[in-house]
Amino acid sequence: MTQTCPLCHNDQSQLFETAQDAGQRLEYRLCNRCGMVFQGSDWKKDQLNQFYANDYRKLVEGEDQVSEKNRAIEETRASLLVGWLKAQGVGRVRRHMDVGASTGALIHRTQREFGAQVLGVELSNSHRAFAERRGLPMLPSLDALEASGSERFDLISLIHVLEHLPDPVGSLAGLRERWLTADGVFLLEVPNLYVHNSYEIAHLHAFSQHTLSETLRLAGYRIDALRVHGQPRSNVLDLYITVLARPTGASTDKTVRPEGRVRLKRRLGMARRRLLERLMPGQAWLPFPTLPADEAE
Ligand SMILES: [Zn+2]
Repeated sequence: MTQTCPLCHNDQSQLFETAQDAGQRLEYRLCNRCGMVFQGSDWKKDQLNQFYANDYRKLVEGEDQVSEKNRAIEETRASLLVGWLKAQGVGRVRRHMDVGASTGALIHRTQREFGAQVLGVELSNSHRAFAERRGLPMLPSLDALEASGSERFDLISLIHVLEHLPDPVGSLAGLRERWLTADGVFLLEVPNLYVHNSYEIAHLHAFSQHTLSETLRLAGYRIDALRVHGQPRSNVLDLYITVLARPTGASTDKTVRPEGRVRLKRRLGMARRRLLERLMPGQAWLPFPTLPADEAE
């Protein structure tokens, strides 16, 4: 079992917390050097691609099919993300690639709002087929993209995807080197360790604002804007971290700035969450969104 920190590659870690998901006992480790929290149990990591092609959606959604509930969340989130991009001054997108595109909600939105040429990369066969039926160009992998002779993109997004990738720094650096234009932007969203439960079978890492920022810096990006928020699920719980980043070129400083008091922050964050859930039940958890009218079929 490998216990190497995915951020600083230190071998010394300690048990952080355990959780049960999908009938498996999950163990999360805390890196002794940098404070990164990562899944220690390396179940099936060698078979990840196969897992995502057929089994993952079955596990989390009950069946390997597109669920209405999931679609509604994705469409609502896509609309919020595009609104946020515009608020950050991104007024023009020529070519957009969404990695882990699921049903294609975000590329569908950027196609419509920016007139962008879009591409979705999605491993799940059922979700890719769903997006293709909507007329969206999709590919099953970055290898397939390489073979397609595609040009670079001026917007690349990974929405609730980075926590699934075994080597987050390497994956972000690879996308920057191979697929992002020099003046392009990178859009990222992950669960927030200090508010979101974060522990799910396919979540290999649990990011804080600090470890996410360090991951991006090491991968050769600078952060233009960072927002913690709960949309579309909560008005008061900062469940998610959303980042707009730009490429700076390969980072020369590979030293990770450590984060301290990670256990305390998690404990306080989750205690605060339980308190807000009790005091403001209607705000802490909003009803699941329904499909926006312009997306309902
Ligand atoms: Zn580390």
